[in-house]
Amino acid sequence: MDGSIYFKTEQEISFIRKSSLLVSKTLAEITKLIQPGISTLELDAVAECYIRKEGGVPSFLDYNGFPNTICVSVNDCVLHGLPSEYIIQDGDVVSVDCGANLNGYHGDACFTFLVGNVAENHYNLCKSAYESLSCAIKIAHEGNRLGDIGFEIQNVGKNHGFGVVKQYGGHGIGKNLHESPIVRNFGRSRRGMKLLRGLTLAIEPMMTEYSSETFLSEDGWSVLTKDGGIAAHYEQTVVVRPYGAEILTDFCFVENQLKKNKFLWRSSLL
Ligand code: MG
Ligand code: MG
Repeated sequence: MDGSIYFKTEQEISFIRKSSLLVSKTLAEITKLIQPGISTLELDAVAECYIRKEGGVPSFLDYNGFPNTICVSVNDCVLHGLPSEYIIQDGDVVSVDCGANLNGYHGDACFTFLVGNVAENHYNLCKSAYESLSCAIKIAHEGNRLGDIGFEIQNVGKNHGFGVVKQYGGHGIGKNLHESPIVRNFGRSRRGMKLLRGLTLAIEPMMTEYSSETFLSEDGWSVLTKDGGIAAHYEQTVVVRPYGAEILTDFCFVENQLKKNKFLWRSSLL
C-alpha cells in the first residue's frame, strides 16, 4: 500500500463489480459443500477451480506468499486461516474469505457459516457482526467520513457486548487487492478522510465472543483470539456514491444456497 487513493471511473467500477460478483458466486459454490466431514482444503480446491473456470485469478494465492485461494478461519481463528486437513465439525463457526481478480481488478468478500447445531451465543455473534457491516455500509456515502464507518462498527459490537478486533480492518480495493485508505473497525464520528464518490472499499468487521485481543499462530498466517473465544467476520466490496454506498458483492448467491444446505440453516442473514 503506497498511500495513494484511487477514485474509480464507471468503467473501473464495472470491472470491480464483475470480480466482486465472481467472488460472491465462489462463496456460493462453497456454501453448497460446507458440512461436517469436509476438510477446509477441499473447500479451497473448489474455490480455485471455480474462479479459474470463470476466467479469474485467485487474488490471495501467492499474495505476500499466502499459499491458497481462500482463507478459512474456524472458531477461535479470526482471519487468514490456512486451508488444511482439518475436518469441519458440527457446531463449528467457519469464516470463508475470498478474493478474485478479473480484468485486472479485484473483488473481496467474507461470510461466516454456522455449521449444524451451534451455540446460541455464536449465532448472536454472527448476527451482530453482520449488522455492524450493514450499518457501516449504510453510512458509507459521500460527505460522511472514514471515522464514521469505524464508529458505527464499534458501536454495534459494544451494544451487543461483543469484542471488535482493532488490529485488522478493511481497505481500498481496485487494481490492488489492498489500497489506501485503511478502513478501521473503530473510530470517531466526523473524523478522518471525507468519503467521495468513486472510492471503492472492502469493509470487513471482525467480532469476537469475548476479548478482541489476538495473536499470530505458529503457522505464520492464522490470527487467533487470545482467550479462545469464537470470532465472526463479514466483508463486502462497495463503492461510495452520493446518496449511499452501492454494494458490488452480492450475498444473495450465498443465501440461495444456504436454503438448500441443511447444515447451514442458522447461517442465513435474512
Ligand atoms: Mg477479504
Ligand atoms: Mg479484505
